[in-house]
Amino acid sequence: MKKPAIPEFFGRTRDELRELLASDLFDAESYRSDQVYEWLYARRAREFSEMTSLPRPLQSKLAARYTIPTLGIRHVSESRDGTKKFLFTLEDGRSIETVLIPSEMRTERSRQRKTLCVSTQVGCPLDCKFCATASLKLKRNLTTAEILLQIFEVERTTRETITNLVFMGMGEPMLNYENVVRALRIITDPRTEMLGKRRVTVSTSGLPDEIRAFAREGLNVKLALSLHATTDTLRTRLMPINKKYPLPTVLAAIEDYYKITKQPVTYEYILFEGLNDTPSDAARLAKIARRVPSRVNVIPFHPIDFTHPTGVSRELRPASEANFRDFLSMLRNAGVSVFIRSSSGKDIEAACGQLALAELPPTAGTQKPIELTFSAE
Ligand code: SAH
Repeated sequence: MKKPAIPEFFGRTRDELRELLASDLFDAESYRSDQVYEWLYARRAREFSEMTSLPRPLQSKLAARYTIPTLGIRHVSESRDGTKKFLFTLEDGRSIETVLIPSEMRTERSRQRKTLCVSTQVGCPLDCKFCATASLKLKRNLTTAEILLQIFEVERTTRETITNLVFMGMGEPMLNYENVVRALRIITDPRTEMLGKRRVTVSTSGLPDEIRAFAREGLNVKLALSLHATTDTLRTRLMPINKKYPLPTVLAAIEDYYKITKQPVTYEYILFEGLNDTPSDAARLAKIARRVPSRVNVIPFHPIDFTHPTGVSRELRPASEANFRDFLSMLRNAGVSVFIRSSSGKDIEAACGQLALAELPPTAGTQKPIELTFSAE
């Protein structure tokens, strides 16, 4: 893993900021550095002059050297179900998408859950056959700042408070390891008053070395594995990365993640008609799910026709409603804790796997939704 440089200023963790401010340039004590840290990430100052608890000379010294970055919002599409997709422009002119999904909380009826789905890369190199982001290929990794700013900008413009965060947007988080970990340190630090670690999920296609390293970071956030197939033959067809890291290798790493963090893991499983929806698939999936405490999220396949797929991608179809229900009961009967992951935002191509930077909002209602009662995650 090639380590990206520590951010110059914005995006530094508490320790990294202390180190910077203790340098001869600023010669500031650690409590000052903590004040800057809180101004940046808890109070979200956008100008150094807002940092009124700092001495003026320190404000000016900081302002002379650094700027507090922002992300430009180029477009917001809103779905009939309330999901919002943000198209952000980055400093170098590239774009990313971030999705805000409102849903009812299962426990507290009065409160709405607001889940933000953030991107970690511009595009993605992994070429999963069912995912629209694959059509972009990898352009570059996001910086720590660009990961954090997705949350800041969405909260600022919508005046909503994000209650849950999922790293399931564009890109493979484990391929941008350092920046994802740094962002998570800031996000889960109680001083930034952002989100508790149990409200954060990182989804990965399964890179064993990174999964084990991630377990040892002490972040203890939730981990989800994009599984989608229970045999190496099919998984390799759907996810080329499986050739390099076949199922036994990936599942052993997931087992270690559980052993080290004691956090139950999530398996994500898109159900494709006639491919991975048979009773034998359900039986193998149940066996995998029993290895360590886990839950399985079964996901309806969201068509990606708008990317003009070729090859295997063209053949993929969502499982029929009947097969979907049967598959869920087979899993439930096998004692698996199973949930349906909602398809929020499908009409604006904001659902899982549909992020591909369409320039214009597509016409709503072009895709027929599967009629299922979705239990929120
Ligand atoms: N690279 C990471 C995170 C991005 S994908 C990963 O592989 O997990 C986020 C989730 O969306 C994954 O579970 C992924 O498998 C799912 N997904 C991708 N394309 C999809 C599609 N067309 N329909 C439904 N879910 C999809």
